[in-house]
Amino acid sequence: MIFNFICQHCGRRCRFNPRVKNQEYCSRKECQQARKNKWEKEQYHNNPSYREKRLLSQEAWRKNYPHKEYQKEYRNRRPDYVACCYAKQKESYHELREAERKALVQNNVNTDALFAQARRGGLYKLIPMDATKNNVNTDAFIVKMQILSG
Ligand SMILES: [Zn+2]
Repeated sequence: MIFNFICQHCGRRCRFNPRVKNQEYCSRKECQQARKNKWEKEQYHNNPSYREKRLLSQEAWRKNYPHKEYQKEYRNRRPDYVACCYAKQKESYHELREAERKALVQNNVNTDALFAQARRGGLYKLIPMDATKNNVNTDAFIVKMQILSG
């Protein structure tokens, strides 16, 4: 008779509980949660009535807890999460600005010359350019300025 088994979650050798048939998980909290999660996932995919009840339950929960209130409450409970998200957004913003700057350089746009010309009074002609060939800023209207008189 085998008295020990290897837990499917933590991998530890454990002693069988005589009251549990075909035991695969030990009694640790995280291992029991893993067992429960596996069972729920299997039920959700294989048992249509379980799936229907689960979806109805989730729908009822969403009605009682509007997502904006839930998210607001979550952010209040987790200031570390909010700070982390803010830092990631800030980093992402700087990466985007840097990518735009590199794109400007790669497109051989001479910004010094452009600004020097734009400060001078006079007539300019705006010539629309092919935006698909420019990856600087797709929201901006891209034109070529040509001095007609100075
Ligand atoms: Zn375990």
